[in-house]
Amino acid sequence: MTYFADLTHAYSLFDHDTVRYEWGTLDYRPRYERLSVGWLDASQPFDTGPVPDGFADALLDIVGNPAVNETRGLHRCEFCPSDTSLIADPRSDGESWLAFREIRVPARPGVMFAAPALIWHYVSAHAYRPPAEFVEAVQHYDAGWATEPSPWIPPDGERAVWGRTARNVMLRCVRCGQKFELHYTPDEPGRRALSLATQQLREQCPDHGKEWEFCDKVR
Ligand SMILES: [Zn+2]
Ligand SMILES: [Zn+2]
Repeated sequence: MTYFADLTHAYSLFDHDTVRYEWGTLDYRPRYERLSVGWLDASQPFDTGPVPDGFADALLDIVGNPAVNETRGLHRCEFCPSDTSLIADPRSDGESWLAFREIRVPARPGVMFAAPALIWHYVSAHAYRPPAEFVEAVQHYDAGWATEPSPWIPPDGERAVWGRTARNVMLRCVRCGQKFELHYTPDEPGRRALSLATQQLREQCPDHGKEWEFCDKVR
């Protein structure tokens, strides 16, 4: 998985953040700084140790509340055996993968922690202990940051309404590196885009169609 050291400004996966709402998605260039937390990699040591009671549950509550940067890649847990390294959201009957999402947690005015949704798994399964500032911010999390009008959300975001706004995105096969353009109209949060992407990749690259990552929107 992409590695960014904790509490650095290294987060650089995407210029834009995309937040999912009931009506569709809002894509914007953040005015807040993004501080990396929990972008672990098997090649790098990470802090372990106890976390406060209820912390892992509080983290899981943040995943999807709101959903941030969904469907932007399929990352596996590098610390689990490969056949079980695709981590499901425990609230979803195994149909929704944590690997597709990120979370944002306000740190202080103008600064947001940026973490992969997999951070819940790292804490609950691999004893990862995130930085104390992040632990505290999670315990005080208020999902209202994403409710407009919000100082966190710039007014010039791009809105895509479910079932109405077609999109073109670039996907890259993780194994062979080929890129594919995917055109679709999202009509349901998450799922349809994922199945379409997988189907299209399997048609064009049968051997490697299971792992892909989102490159960027075609602008
Ligand atoms: Zn794991
Ligand atoms: Zn391939």
